Formats: sequence, C-alpha cells, structure tokens
Amino acid sequence: MCYASHKETLVPNINTTAFRKKFVIPDFVSFASEIDALYENAKNLGGGQVADYIPQLARFSPDLWAVSICTVDGQRHTAGDTKVPFCLQSCVKPLKYAIAVHDHGTEYVHRFIGKEPSGLRFNKLFLNEEDKPHNPMVNAGAIVCTRIGTKLEFNLVETGLRPQNVPALSAPRFQSERESGDRNFAIGYYLKEKKCFPEGTDMTSILDLYFQLCSIEVTCESASVMAATLANGGFCPITGERVLGPEAVRNTLSLMHSCGMYDFSGQFAFHVGLPAKSGVAGGILLVVPNVMGIMCWSPPLDKLGNSVRGIQFCTDLVSLCNFHNYDNLKHFVKKLDPRREGGDQRVKSVINLLFAAYTGDVSALRRFALSSMDMEQRDYDSRTALHVAAAEGHVEVVKFLLEACRVNPVPKDRWGNTPMEEAVHFGHHDVVTMLQDYNNKYSPPGGATEDKEKEISEKNIDGLL
Ligand code: GLU
Repeated sequence: MCYASHKETLVPNINTTAFRKKFVIPDFVSFASEIDALYENAKNLGGGQVADYIPQLARFSPDLWAVSICTVDGQRHTAGDTKVPFCLQSCVKPLKYAIAVHDHGTEYVHRFIGKEPSGLRFNKLFLNEEDKPHNPMVNAGAIVCTRIGTKLEFNLVETGLRPQNVPALSAPRFQSERESGDRNFAIGYYLKEKKCFPEGTDMTSILDLYFQLCSIEVTCESASVMAATLANGGFCPITGERVLGPEAVRNTLSLMHSCGMYDFSGQFAFHVGLPAKSGVAGGILLVVPNVMGIMCWSPPLDKLGNSVRGIQFCTDLVSLCNFHNYDNLKHFVKKLDPRREGGDQRVKSVINLLFAAYTGDVSALRRFALSSMDMEQRDYDSRTALHVAAAEGHVEVVKFLLEACRVNPVPKDRWGNTPMEEAVHFGHHDVVTMLQDYNNKYSPPGGATEDKEKEISEKNIDGLL
C-alpha cells in the first residue's frame, strides 16, 4: 500500500486575524514551518532497529517518519507519513491509566499500582516492596490498569483517537502479540500469585484485552488529538467534549514525565522536560501541557527502545522553543516562545510598567527590570515611566529609573514634554532637583540632546539588587 508523504497545516475556520492572534500559538503558520525544519533535520538520521519480535512490526520501512501536532485550540499541522496506520503499543499505557483514574479515582487505582520509576526494563518480572507494580507505564502496571480502566474503546472514539476508515484494532497484530506474549503471560501469573488484581479478575482475559489495546491502530494525525486532549486538561480540542477529568490528566502527565520513556525516562525528563510515552512500534506521544499534543512516529528504535528520529525531534523542539518544564519564560530569551503574541504582550507590559510608576511601586519596578523588561517603553502618547513618576512626584521611582535603570532622562512625549517639564508643571520640587542634578552630572558639554542622552542610557541592572 502506498501512502502519500506530505505537509499540511489546518487552522480552525476563523477568518479574522484578530481572533487568530488569541490562539495559543498566535503565528501558527511560522511555527509550522519551524516544525517542518525540525522534521527535515530528523529525517536524515540513520541508525536504529525496527522492532521484529512480531512480523507485523518487522515489515515497516525504516524510512517512515511522521510528526503531527494539534494545539489545545485545534490548530493542526502534519509532516511526513502521518496517514500510515501503526499500533499504539505502549503509547496506550498512559491512556488506559488516565481512564482508570477518571473512572475510579486516584486512591483506588493506586491501591493496586505504585507511582515510582522502577529503574528496570519495562517488561521485567518484578514488583515493588509492597508487591505492587512500580507504575502504570511498565507492563506489570499496565496489565493491572487494563483490569481497572474498562471504557477505553469508548473513549478512544470520543477523542478522535480512532481514525475514520481505519480499523481500531488490528486482529493479526493482536494474534501475534498474544502468540509472542510469553513474558506478559509470566507477568500475568506473577501478578495473580501476588494478588495484584482486584478480586474476581480473570487474568487471562485481561491479558487478551492488554494485547488488544497494544494492537490498536492509529495514525500520527489521530494520535496527536489524544495527546492534545491530555495537553488540554482532558477536553478534546476537536470535539470540545470532556473526556478525562483534570486529576486523571495531571496524574498521567506526572507519570509520563517520570516513567514514560523506558530506561531513558530520567534523561528525557532532564533534556526535554516534557511528559511523553514511547512505544515499540516507534511512536512517541509528547505533551506540551496547556499548549499542544504531538505524535512522532518512526519505526527504527535506539538501544533503549525509543524512536531514533522521535527523540531527535523532541530534543530539537525543546532546544528551539522554551517548552521544557523548567525553562524560565522571562529570562531565557534565546529560545523562541511561540505562545507569545508580540503586540499583546507589549501592551500588557507597558501598562504594568506605567501603573507601577504611577503608584510609586519601586519593588514592582525592580522586579520588571530584573525580568529584562524595557524600562524605557512608551504608551500610545509616547509617555514613559519616568514621565509618569515625575508627574506624580514619586522621587524614589525617579531615582530608581535614572540611577539603577539608566533610562533616558529627557524623553519627549507626543506633546513634546519631558519628565522635567512634568515635575515643574505639577510643582514637585524634589523631583525637579533630582532631574537637574542627574542632567548636570551626565550632560555632555554643549547641552543634553535626546540622542546624546540615549548614549548614556545603556541598560545596566547591576545596581538593582
Ligand atoms: N506489546 C508490547 C508488550 O507488551 C508493548 C511493548 C512496548 O510498546 O513497549 O510487551
């Protein structure tokens, strides 16, 4: 069968730019072209092995490579082989855990399953000190979760995870999974021996369901919607329906963050800093909470079982954008913030600045300066914080702006007024004196022009603390 490889961007059908700017990624078209560049970069990567423990996986071409994105407000972009069906395999684990918690609550689910990374292979026949599976992202935990989360099929359809015209379950893959599932049977019997299941569980039929869930087929496009549902606190961004509760989503993201990437989970949390789950078919379900869901898929796997191209893409994404959980959104200016809409942010920032100057709030101004805010920015009348502070007679603010922030002392507003003229007009003599002293100290011979003053207003926040 031949599937077209392509790039495609879809934004919800809203025609006014003003509305589009309110989207979580205001300039989605530019963002999509950045994604394409990352996609192309990873495409050239060689190496890795396609999983071959069942023939249905072994037959995938190592060249297949796809990335799909769906934002929390339904903007979508796809690149590559995004319409080729593949099995979720372990990427289904967070989904069934989320459904188990949604249906039964955290306390009940964790009576049976732990919350700790195991430090062991995902399919190890091993339990924690309380004789429970370590977490729901390893096979033992996922098998127990299969017993608890019952309505999976229903939810998959609701969230759009099951693509149209593609059978949700691949019967031959399920058969092969079961036939080659000795380790999972061993885990099942061990779980049964240790009484890890709720009472009355028919372990072998649970294992059958486990194999079926691993064999659910998705495409990169459809799985990105599920990732986006997790990014969106449990509301599907396409149908608008609440599929999962906020507690289920938060738990799931936490466990994906600590345990989702096999024995690379710690390193992934360190370098990428986002919740993700990987599967043996080459999928990586990646969530940027409150922003977007991403599905990457490429069959060749590295030694730890993660998609080689998928890992490269996730790493590159976080090098480019400030999506790492611990990226500082204010100070790490070298990274792109696709969430930021230039104009909107600027308006907020100038309002905060001028309002702090108006109320004489030096601590707020110090905080702004430390967050690299431009302390000379102007409002629609070209007025600066220094104009406002001078007009209000806030000596401490004027002092701070001049001496610590080294702002231009003679900016002109739209009527040609300087802060000095404001202070004179409103009779704030102490401010007048301070501005005079400052001007005398820094005026070059021949008088202060705005340009010359600008030269001495180099940003210097050394003295802020
Ligand atoms: N069917 C596989 C198993 O249960 C899933 C493996 C995986 O994707 O990690 O062993």
